[in-house]
Amino acid sequence: MVNDRETQDAPAQVFLKYRIAKSEKLGRYMIAEKDLVAGEVILRESPVSVGPTAFFEGSLCFNCHKPIVQPELKRYNCTKCKVAPLCQPACELVPGYHKNAECSLFRSNQLYSSKISDHSTVLLPLRLWLLRQTETELWKHIDLMEDHVKERRGTHIWSIREQTVVQVLHKLRLVPDDSETSELMQRICGILDVNSFELRSSGESELEGHLLRGLYTKAALMAHNCRSNTHLTVDERDELAIYASVDIKKGATIYFNYTGFLLGSAKRRENLREGKYFECECTLCRDPFELKSNLSSLVCPRCRQGYVGIQNPLTSNPYGLKTKWQCERCKSLLSGKMIKTTLNLTRSLIENTENFDTKALESLLTKLLLTVHTNHYLALDLKEKLLVNYRKEMSAINPRKKILERILNLHREGLAVLDIIEPGISRQKGIRLYEMHLATALIAKKNYAAREISPLELSLQLKEAQDLLRKALSNLLLEPTGTPEGRLAKLALQQMKLLRENMTDANALATPGQKPKTQTMKH
Ligand SMILES: [Zn+2]
Ligand SMILES: [Zn+2]
Ligand SMILES: [Zn+2]
Ligand SMILES: [Zn+2]
Repeated sequence: MVNDRETQDAPAQVFLKYRIAKSEKLGRYMIAEKDLVAGEVILRESPVSVGPTAFFEGSLCFNCHKPIVQPELKRYNCTKCKVAPLCQPACELVPGYHKNAECSLFRSNQLYSSKISDHSTVLLPLRLWLLRQTETELWKHIDLMEDHVKERRGTHIWSIREQTVVQVLHKLRLVPDDSETSELMQRICGILDVNSFELRSSGESELEGHLLRGLYTKAALMAHNCRSNTHLTVDERDELAIYASVDIKKGATIYFNYTGFLLGSAKRRENLREGKYFECECTLCRDPFELKSNLSSLVCPRCRQGYVGIQNPLTSNPYGLKTKWQCERCKSLLSGKMIKTTLNLTRSLIENTENFDTKALESLLTKLLLTVHTNHYLALDLKEKLLVNYRKEMSAINPRKKILERILNLHREGLAVLDIIEPGISRQKGIRLYEMHLATALIAKKNYAAREISPLELSLQLKEAQDLLRKALSNLLLEPTGTPEGRLAKLALQQMKLLRENMTDANALATPGQKPKTQTMKH
C-alpha cells in the first residue's frame, strides 16, 4: 500500500522484528527480521490521525469521536472555536483529535465552518491537510504512501470525493479554492482510502463500531493476503498493535487481510481491485475451491453431487458469458453468467429475512443448500442470522437442548472455515469457541439434571467445555480490555474459574463418600 516511486534511494530501514523490503510488485513491504511465534507483537503504533469514515452519518465528538446522542439544543461546542461539537464540556480539557491548528482554523471563519458538524466526513482529509503544514517531518512519511491518483482520476470514486470532500471544504472556506489545493485534497483522499484502517469508536454499544478510520504509516506497509499471518488490535487510545497470528519464519512476508474475510474470491478480489487497486493472487484466490473452504462453491445443477468452481480463478470477470465454471465431479461446464443468475436468485432469497423466525430461517437454509455449498458465503450469511436468533434462546432461563446442539453444530461448521481462511489467532474463532463452551457446559448440566449421565460423564463433558474455553481464551487474550472482545476475554477468565468449581463438584460426586462443596451440581 505504499508508493514506490520516491523511495528508490532511501536506505533500507531495519527494525527489531521486521524490515522493509522492496519489490516491483509489492512496492515497499514488511518482512520478518527474525523468527516470530504466534502471539508475538510485531509493532505498536499510534495513529497519524483519526476521523470518521467516508460513509459516516450522524454526529460525533470532534475530540474523542464518541457519538453525540444529546438532542440538538443540549449540544455542546468547543469554547475556543465555538464550532467543533464535543461530547461534554470536560472533553475539551482532554488531549484528543481536535488539535490547536484545527481549532484556530474553525475560529478564524466561524460563520462558514460552523456547518462542518453536518459534514463530518471531511474531517479526516482536513486533518491531514493541516498536518502537512504543521508537522512537516510526519508529512514526509505520509507523502510516501500510495495514493493511486492515476487510477482514480475521472472514476466514480473521484467524483464522489470531489463532491463530498473537496467541494464541501471549499464551501466551508476551510481550504483555498484553487486547483492546486483540489488536487492535493484528492491525493489525501486517495491516501486515506487506500491506506487507512477501520477503527471502532469507544463505547459499550456494538452499534458504535466501525465508524472511524485511522492512518498508520508503519502498519500500512503490510502487504495484503486473503489469509493473513497477523492479528491486529486497536485499543481505546487508538494505538494499533500487530501480532503474529501464526509462527512466521525469518524473511517471510508479513501480511494483513485488507478485505472482508467471509467473502468469496470474486467479491474479495473485486473489493481489492476497486478499493486498493491491485489483483490479488494469493493461494486462496488462486484455488477454484478456495483451499477446500468452498466459500464460493455451488452445487452442480447437472449431477447434483459435485461442486462447481471457477476454472480460472484469477480472471477479473468471474461472471462473464465466456468465463467457465466446472463441476469437480461430472466435469460439466457452466458459464459465469449462469452462475451470476443463480447467485442473484439465491441472494434475493436471504434478503429481507429480518422478521423471519428460527424455523423459517432453518427451512430457508435447507432450500439454499440445494444450490450452494454449506460453506458458501451466502450460506454463512444465513447461518449468522440463525445464530443471532439462537443466541437469544441460549440466554433464556432454560434453553432447550436441541437448540444448544444446533448452536454447537453451526459454530463447528463456521470454525472449520475459519481454520482455513484465518489460520492461527482469530477474534472470530475466539467468539465462536466461547459460545461453544457455553453450549457444551449447559448441555452437560441439563443431561445430568435429567439423570441421563453419571457424575463421571458430567465431569468429562465439563472437561470438554473447559478445553473449548481454553481455546477461546488463547484467541481472545490479545484483545485490548476496552473492546467488546476484551470484555469477552475477561468474562471467559471468570467462566474458567466457575467451570473449575463445577468440575471439582462433579468429581466429588463421582467419588463415593465425598460431598460437593457447592450446591450447583445437585440433581
Ligand atoms: Zn468527547
Ligand atoms: Zn475548538
Ligand atoms: Zn487473495
Ligand atoms: Zn456435476
